[in-house]
Amino acid sequence: MRPGKLVCIGQNYHAHIKELRSEVPKEPVIFLKPSTALIGNGEDILLPPGLGRIDYEGELAVIIGKRAKGVRAAKALQHVEALAVFNDVTARDVQSVARKAGLPWSLAKGMDTFAPLSEPRPFGEVLDVRALKVQTRLNGELRQDGRTADMIFPVEELVSYVSRYMTLEPGDVIATGTPEGVGPIKDGDVVEIAIPGVGVLRNRVRDAPRP
Ligand code: MG
Repeated sequence: MRPGKLVCIGQNYHAHIKELRSEVPKEPVIFLKPSTALIGNGEDILLPPGLGRIDYEGELAVIIGKRAKGVRAAKALQHVEALAVFNDVTARDVQSVARKAGLPWSLAKGMDTFAPLSEPRPFGEVLDVRALKVQTRLNGELRQDGRTADMIFPVEELVSYVSRYMTLEPGDVIATGTPEGVGPIKDGDVVEIAIPGVGVLRNRVRDAPRP
């Protein structure tokens, strides 16, 4: 079953904000991806032609198990059913043009195959959601080595904040932001994101066939 929505958090790690030359947000930065962007472990990320730079972003994803509306942070984790590994694939040049113009960047984030998601790991089996490593390897080379302890807004605050404005339903996904070390992908690359204790997400990159 497809999730009703993918809620993504931007700029949730200090070092990544620096590399994007952005500013530390006072509240979580939220955007959505359509569920049609989802692919699973082992499926290909397809790069539409002519869009310039397209990046990987390794992230921890939270999967909602119980409807949440206006939940307090102290109770928010009771609404989480599972964790998973996520790749917030981003058409960076398309996003930059939109940002500079003050326009939304939905297209840059929401294209088909731009939301690879691993198999879920039951939340109860994860020891400590604040003590996880997020490691991205591009063609076997380590490119991201972040820690969830460095999140500006931790998972319980994100679930609470989002649920204040958008009802979270079972199956909904919250992607919690990427640490530093994002970079471009091209045809033939293999992106592997590992969150030890949660799972591994591996996808090959292909140029999409011209329509
Ligand atoms: Mg991201």
